[in-house]
Amino acid sequence: MQTESTGSGPDKTITRWILRAVILVLLIILAFLGLSALLSPESHLLHGKMTLSGRAKSALLGLGTVAAKNGDVPIAAVILYGDSIIGRGYNTVVRDTNAAGHAEINAITDALARIGPSRFNQLSRDSLVMVSTLEPCPMCRGALLEYRFHHVVFLRGRSFLHWFREFGKQLKYEWNKEKGTDEAIQDSLLRMHPGYDSTRIDW
Ligand SMILES: [Zn+2]
Repeated sequence: MQTESTGSGPDKTITRWILRAVILVLLIILAFLGLSALLSPESHLLHGKMTLSGRAKSALLGLGTVAAKNGDVPIAAVILYGDSIIGRGYNTVVRDTNAAGHAEINAITDALARIGPSRFNQLSRDSLVMVSTLEPCPMCRGALLEYRFHHVVFLRGRSFLHWFREFGKQLKYEWNKEKGTDEAIQDSLLRMHPGYDSTRIDW
C-alpha cells in the first residue's frame, strides 16, 4: 500500500480527517434526502408512467431468456429512440466472464456499435430511453450518467435493503479510498491522446 510522504505529517492527517468528516456529513445528508424522496407520496409515480410497446416487451423477454439459457441472471435492457429500438442487451457476466457485462451496459455498447458514438452523442436526450427489466445497479447507473441518459425506466425496482447495503458500500469506499503520489503517470498518458487539452479541467 502506498502512503503519502510529503508535507508535514500531523497537519496532513488532520486535514484528511476533516475531509473525511465533511464527506461523511454530506453522505448522511444525501442519504436522508434519498430516503425522503423514496418515502414521498410522489415516488411511486416514477413507476408505471411509461407504457411499453408490444415489440419492446417481447424484445426484453427474448433477450432475458437468452441470458437465462446461458446461465446468467436473466436481466434484459433495450434502448428506445422514439418508437425504434436502437440498442439491445442482456446479462453476459457468466457467458463472457465479463465483470461489466450487465444488460444496460451491453445495450449501450450495442447502440454505439450500430449507430456510432458520435451519432449516439447527438441523439436528442428527450427521445432516448433506457428500459431495463431490473432497476440499474450503481455500475450501470454510472454508465447511464456517462452517456447522458435522462430517462430510465425499470420494470422491477430494487428493495430498500438493497440500496441501504449499496449506501454502506459507498460509504466504505469514500472512507477507504486513497490517492497515490504518482499523478505524473496519468498526466503523461493523457498527453498521448490526440484530443488532450491541458486547459480543460475535466480530463
Ligand atoms: Zn448493472
